[in-house]
Amino acid sequence: MTRNYNFSAGPSALPEDVLKQAQHELLDWHGLGLSIMEMSHRSKEFVAVAAEAEQDLRDLMKIPDNYKVLFMQGGASSQFSMIPMNLLRGKTTADYINTGDWSKKAIKEASRYCDVNVVATTEADNFTSVPAQSELKLNPDAAYVHYTPNETIRGVEFDYIPDTGDVPLVADMSSNILSRPIDVSRFAMIYAGAQKNIGPAGLTVVIVRDDLLGDILPTTPALYDYKVNADADSMLNTPPTFGWYLAGLVFKWLKAQGGVEGIAELNRRKAEKLYAVIDSNPFYSNPVAINARSWMNVPFILANADLDKLFLQEAQDKGLLNLPGHRSVGGMRASIYNAVPEEGVDALIAFMQDFSQRHG
Ligand code: PMP
Repeated sequence: MTRNYNFSAGPSALPEDVLKQAQHELLDWHGLGLSIMEMSHRSKEFVAVAAEAEQDLRDLMKIPDNYKVLFMQGGASSQFSMIPMNLLRGKTTADYINTGDWSKKAIKEASRYCDVNVVATTEADNFTSVPAQSELKLNPDAAYVHYTPNETIRGVEFDYIPDTGDVPLVADMSSNILSRPIDVSRFAMIYAGAQKNIGPAGLTVVIVRDDLLGDILPTTPALYDYKVNADADSMLNTPPTFGWYLAGLVFKWLKAQGGVEGIAELNRRKAEKLYAVIDSNPFYSNPVAINARSWMNVPFILANADLDKLFLQEAQDKGLLNLPGHRSVGGMRASIYNAVPEEGVDALIAFMQDFSQRHG
């Protein structure tokens, strides 16, 4: 069996140890003679798995007690509508920062429910930077401020947490959750689709401060009501049990890597060495402002785009998979999430240097 290095943006690489453990437990979970995905979500066994996963996530992110952790479905995109449904709370406008494709999707969806005030946009520089705090034209009467700390497609990551005063701050952390320590208490709500740093697709994690629960738009479906979900321990209906279980295994794995602090050190090293090659070798380039470069998604282009196909083919032949950039921007993108080992980044760098020597 060969495991290749997988630079997919999502669904993306999972830790090999986690996959092996899931494989080992698949047919017979803990001696019960059935798999975890074949038992009731209300069984005492699954309820314990679910609670342990939540506790491990709380430990990893140091989530304060006044926050609920919800394990939902529908992907991060479903949160684009649940956020206004739950967090407008009688107000009619919300502030959004636009730093790229995912911000834009969140804005478009929220516009169906409220007046969206775009408080800063980096569209003019083709989404290659983040706005400074001083550039945010925040409205003190906004229901909340939404932003995307890491834009997955163009590899743009905030190097600071916006200060929004008393206005609740909401963050789409789909592509950088658990990649480095953050102060959860600065946020009113954090959400993430699981399929990058958490587990398989199908699960969405929502972390929300409990004083914001319970004042929803009247037409909100019960399934989309954070308070109803919180009161039901995210088991209002059948949750994605296998994804929840697997996320729990990933959280244990992450604890064994030294937690978020430990993995952050590794993530910083991986990103720094990859950007160093892109910046020092004229064959490659990345347009993102240095302070806004993502640790998780590293897009780059070749000096000669005619060689793109050959680059990708040779990379694939060497077991370096899923390097094409997003279909909307082209070029290359290496997503180097928590589960991509440093050796994978080293192998990519060695290939990039070798390729440029042969074709530069
Ligand atoms: N936000 C960000 C930052 C993303 O990267 C993605 C997916 N790549 C999404 C939202 C949408 O996630 P989902 O497919 O889970 O709806």
